Amino acid sequence: MHNKSELDYFEVFPWNPGFEVGIPAIDEQHKQLVVLINRLVNTLIHKEPLEVSEAFSDLANYADFHFTAEEAIWKETFQDDDWVASHQQNHASFLPAIRAIQEKDADKPLHEIVENILRFLTRWLAFHIIDDDKRMALAVRALTSGDSLTQAKQRADQQMDGSANLLIDIVLNMYDGLASRTLNLMRERQARMAAEAELKQANQKLEQLSITDQLTGLFNRRHLETIFDSEQQRARQAQKSFNFLLLDIDYFKRLNDRYGHASGDFALRQVGQQLLALCQGSDQWAFRLGGEEFAIISITDSPEDGRSFAQSICESIALLAIENQDSDAADTLTLSIGVVGGVPSEGDNRDHLMRQADICLYHAKDQGRNRVICQTEPA
Ligand code: GH3
Ligand code: MG
Ligand code: MG
Repeated sequence: MHNKSELDYFEVFPWNPGFEVGIPAIDEQHKQLVVLINRLVNTLIHKEPLEVSEAFSDLANYADFHFTAEEAIWKETFQDDDWVASHQQNHASFLPAIRAIQEKDADKPLHEIVENILRFLTRWLAFHIIDDDKRMALAVRALTSGDSLTQAKQRADQQMDGSANLLIDIVLNMYDGLASRTLNLMRERQARMAAEAELKQANQKLEQLSITDQLTGLFNRRHLETIFDSEQQRARQAQKSFNFLLLDIDYFKRLNDRYGHASGDFALRQVGQQLLALCQGSDQWAFRLGGEEFAIISITDSPEDGRSFAQSICESIALLAIENQDSDAADTLTLSIGVVGGVPSEGDNRDHLMRQADICLYHAKDQGRNRVICQTEPA
């Protein structure tokens, strides 16, 4: 058997004290019928066929047992009175009616079957108990206080004339119970929706973190690899120049050595901020690849625009005037940039393009650093 937590279980048809007929053995059995009906509905909702058929046969068997027991009690009191016969008839119609619903609804959606069965069961049980059994129990009580059978039946009928009030009372009580349960469900749904929203936010944050370089806040290499191909394709479709810039700080080791690692970190952050500020357009992305190496993807109308963008980056980093006295390129921090740009053609290869940019960067270093070397036609 499945172990179900409280939360998984719904009492769809609540027991109501108004159902009590005053004969303990019968009341206990009625309560058990209500339990079995609730269990059946729950198995129907959980969609486990084996449990459903088990719950069905449990209910059928118990109903059978209850009917026999109840009929024995009534027979003892009323003998061959026609009340007993009509009651028996009522009982006899119960199981065939359920089976009929089962067969009739066999290919309907589950929730419809559940609703139909529940509707039948609750009505049948409520009327069976509230009308028939209560009436008979009242007559039993009258008989034991000395009435004749005819008198006892009359008195029970009279007392049952007021049963509309009882019915209203029971219905209202059940309504109260169901209403507060509905409110609880609404609260649960509210809480679940809030939890889901929180989870979504946390996921977004996590996703953001996974594509961000922690020191500078720029995108990381992973994100570069993610968007490279699709941006290249986008540029090709728009017949624009796809420019890939590889940037490397000049003599950064000397900056670290002279001013300390913390100053080096601070310088990396400043460079990162500046690159971010320069790449605010919708067609520009800045990445830190690791160490003092960065990359930029920019999509421009022409390769020439890509080159001048790289040139402006080079100049604006120098203008930050971060001290690097031991650099051979300048007194301040500078960087070298290798650029590959051009309208991509189908089948352009990412690794090849990156290698080309790396070669340009090497030339920039070789030719004295603090400069841009460009290869405008990607081969
Ligand atoms: P070049 O002009 O030829 O590029 O010389 P360079 O000194 O910049 O290059 P090199 O590759 O020799 O040294 C890079 C230095 O960057 C070495 C390393 O300690 C430092 N570095 C790498 N990552 C970090 C970092 O996260 N923080 C700091 N402060 N330093 C880093
Ligand atoms: Mg380096
Ligand atoms: Mg370097």
